[in-house]
Amino acid sequence: MLTGAVPWPAEFAARYRREGYWRDETLAQLLRGPAGSAGARTAVVSGGGRTSYAELDSRADQIAAGLRQLGVVAGDRFVVQLPNTVDLLAVCVALFRAGAIPVLALPAHRRAEIGYLCEHADAAGLVIPGVHLGFDHRAMAREIRGALPGLRHVLVAGEPGEFTALTDVLAPPAEMPPPDPADVALCLLSGGTTGLPKLIPRTHHDYVCQLRGTAREMGLDDSGAYLAVLPVAHNAALGCPGVLGALRAGAKVVLAASPAPDEAFPLIAAEAVTLTTLMPAFLPLWATTAGLFEVDLSRLVIEVGGARLDPEVASSAEQALGCTITRWFGMAEGLLTFTRTGEPARVRHATEGRPLWPADEIRVVDAGERDAPPGSVGELLVRGPSVVRGYYRAQGYNATAFTPSGFLRTGDLVRVTPEGNMVVAGRLRDVVNRGGEKVPTAEVEDHIRAHPGVKDVAVTAVPDPVLGECSCAFVIPAGDPPSLRDLRDFLTGRGLAAFKLPDQMELVGSFPNTPVGKVDKAALRDITRWSAGGGEPSRLQ
Ligand code: AMP
Repeated sequence: MLTGAVPWPAEFAARYRREGYWRDETLAQLLRGPAGSAGARTAVVSGGGRTSYAELDSRADQIAAGLRQLGVVAGDRFVVQLPNTVDLLAVCVALFRAGAIPVLALPAHRRAEIGYLCEHADAAGLVIPGVHLGFDHRAMAREIRGALPGLRHVLVAGEPGEFTALTDVLAPPAEMPPPDPADVALCLLSGGTTGLPKLIPRTHHDYVCQLRGTAREMGLDDSGAYLAVLPVAHNAALGCPGVLGALRAGAKVVLAASPAPDEAFPLIAAEAVTLTTLMPAFLPLWATTAGLFEVDLSRLVIEVGGARLDPEVASSAEQALGCTITRWFGMAEGLLTFTRTGEPARVRHATEGRPLWPADEIRVVDAGERDAPPGSVGELLVRGPSVVRGYYRAQGYNATAFTPSGFLRTGDLVRVTPEGNMVVAGRLRDVVNRGGEKVPTAEVEDHIRAHPGVKDVAVTAVPDPVLGECSCAFVIPAGDPPSLRDLRDFLTGRGLAAFKLPDQMELVGSFPNTPVGKVDKAALRDITRWSAGGGEPSRLQ
């Protein structure tokens, strides 16, 4: 097991194997089945091109062999920051086969996040596009590499500059020892509560278990087509069942650059897409624009989750689109609950459904961590065959993030209906859920405090009609306070991803405190309500 990752206790591992959750399958085997039996079939549709299972399989083999020639060994970490492209899938499978571990970063991440990930993961390599959406990732890599001599390989899917082109890594396929299914296969990023995101080490056992179960429950098999409109680096589009679940099932993967309707709807029509995953913020837009594209969506299932969804919106969108909407609740740490396609609309639209497996253990607890009375709201604690037992290299944090018996303290407030379906009621954790993108407030606060015009700051979520939540920075100024635009420019200059920049700013003289002396963020949020009548908070148009 990778040093710094936390294994399941032996009795749980034995149970999950005995009960058939863990079957010794690894992610290195992806593409092998369909490639062997029907290699000519399309595996991926992307950017107007088509790649067959056989082609993708061979590409992954060649990259894996090339990585080995570069000196990459099992257990090496590679931060992978690629947009939704065939390269991303080929690189991931190649790393699985070489026994190396992709750490999946979002394309929106910038120097601050990528630098931190490379450092924290002690990465041997970084894989980036050349220029993507006007941002030069090579310039970012240059700065990061200067500070991290251990970062030996920078591979570029595109014009490489002084780095190595991905196309130059290819080598004739070579035999490689298969990875241990109990070992870490990939690292995902947590939504984050304390400062920088935590790395979530997912093993072959537990991730394959999630791919197999979600594909089966969502009816995705080799006759289906999965459309990725969210970044594939996010667990939702990667493995619930997502692109990896689709490849495992022999289905067709269709990659879109974004959920923009003018890209998504033509792809759904042309490729007969059967399943896609969406965050709630995009659903109203899809519902109002679908009519313009005259596409028959009756075979389409849209899994909507990642943030709160209004049942009314779910129900009217389903009618407008003529598709099936299922809701889900999930986290990169592994828990997934979802409503099944065959369930009545009142369940699919108003609840987050049931866990994936009977072996998923869910507890709803009160503030003293005692089981809350049935049906009442409490914090969700989870344990199961796909729920990790610890964050990577985070021993101190793990001691508080997990109970002594290994349940993850999710920080989410939920209740369970008499039928056994989960309903999300809120969150204990200090994070802004900006339309599904999680903004760890502590990380942003640290950056804002570095501004010379800021004495102190507290960032908190405030309601937003489109995104559900957006972020507001409450600033105690030091001398000449920055404007919202100044602050955003300052944070961009520090290499922070755009989705983490505050949407609003309020100047305050002091912070209200809770009885234990912490900043009372709930009281701060009320300030935006008070000021609604008089001075509006600074807001970016
Ligand atoms: P991530 O680490 O990005 O996968 O985010 C996981 C977090 O997203 C959860 O802990 C929840 O706070 C939030 N989340 C996921 N699904 C839902 C949902 N259906 N409703 C409300 N919040 C959700």
